[in-house]
Amino acid sequence: MSESKQMAGIRSTQLFEQAQEHIPGGVNSPVRAFRAVGGGPLFISSAKAAEITDADGRTYIDYVASWGPMILGHAHPEVIAAIQKAAALGTSYGAPTELEVEFAKEIKSALPSIEKIRLVSSGTEAVMSAIRLARGFTGRDKIVKFVGCYHGHSDALLAKAGSGIATFGLPDCPGVPAETVKHTLTLPFNDITALEVLFKEMGSEIAAIVLEPIAGNMGCVLPKSGFLEKLREVTSASGSLLIFDEVITGFRLGRGGVQALYNIKPDLTCLGKIIGGGLPVGAFGGRRDIMDHLAPIGPVYQAGTLSGNPLAVTAGLTVLRILRDESIYKKLESQTAKLVAATNDAAKSAGIPISINSIGSIFTCFFTDKKVVDWDSAKTSDTTRFAKFFRAMLAEGVYMAPSQFEVGFLSIAHSDEILEKTAIAAKKAFETLA
Ligand SMILES: *Cc1c(COP(=O)(O)O)cnc(C)c1O
Repeated sequence: MSESKQMAGIRSTQLFEQAQEHIPGGVNSPVRAFRAVGGGPLFISSAKAAEITDADGRTYIDYVASWGPMILGHAHPEVIAAIQKAAALGTSYGAPTELEVEFAKEIKSALPSIEKIRLVSSGTEAVMSAIRLARGFTGRDKIVKFVGCYHGHSDALLAKAGSGIATFGLPDCPGVPAETVKHTLTLPFNDITALEVLFKEMGSEIAAIVLEPIAGNMGCVLPKSGFLEKLREVTSASGSLLIFDEVITGFRLGRGGVQALYNIKPDLTCLGKIIGGGLPVGAFGGRRDIMDHLAPIGPVYQAGTLSGNPLAVTAGLTVLRILRDESIYKKLESQTAKLVAATNDAAKSAGIPISINSIGSIFTCFFTDKKVVDWDSAKTSDTTRFAKFFRAMLAEGVYMAPSQFEVGFLSIAHSDEILEKTAIAAKKAFETLA
């Protein structure tokens, strides 16, 4: 193991010390602090294609991809040029633009379930607004979410789990009043029986089910056969809405997201990450009759000073237009399959039990011998072993998400050469665990 990259370098360490003086925990989003894996975070100074460079001038192969947006790789020349050109025209007007119309059309052409769409500035805002709209539209308060699914940090969606079939949500987080989450019901992912029991009991009171139709925030977890179909069935039967949170999966698993892969039509869809092309954009959209409940034509209020920001929309639109080329997704899928195969081989020859879930260009290597189908099975992972693996990979120049319960992302810049380097690193990293 090359000692030089074993932990954060001198400059990153100094910056982290300073940051902790001025910023809670030294970071502007908690997972960045590396607390699940130990050691201080790398401070990043630049990124290009599949690699990022830290403040100490060390370069790493990047599988975080800004948590998903960088599907074309970092600093893609066409995207950067478009942003530069847009910046010269002014960075924000607080008034409508032609760009927003183009952007709405582009998204609608990829996701036919979206008849109208509204832009916001983050995934959190998108899901929060979709929930308000669903409640306003149905006149019902209760919502259903699944344990292990993340939908941003708005109050109502921070409720996680209780055990049993449907536990009335208890706040996971101080500062979230119990009253705020008492209408949030949680169910285990992939549990069709629990879903049926809940809807039989109180389906007529439920405004919406919201879920990541392929989960990415407990690591990658796929819906089991019939699960999404059953969600569509019970919501339709009870007059509840089905909301797909495709903030990760939208434009990542093909242009049409999970809804195209599984041929399920949600009532509302939330987007973020890729659609901003690396700038802050979120969106929610869906059935016209529902979307028309939004102000100014309907009674449900929702607004944003920087919503539809021309710089952000330009970045997103440039990326989405490049992604019209469906061969990109085929390539991403085959590159990911190579990486998964190499990782499985490396783990096997080192005798380390792992269970990899993967689809399209996302993957999670769970350190467990169990099949991971929900939060409970994800939790069987040996997180200490994961942390050791993470540090060994970092030492070999590979930057992965600093938590067992995240997905890794490939970009079109992850070439065969990059994958081969990763495979060699993984082989060494697994050997340190044996
Ligand atoms: C990242 C994410 C969000 C929140 O998006 P932010 O832009 O971080 O607010 C919501 N839902 C899912 C599925 C996500 O992965």
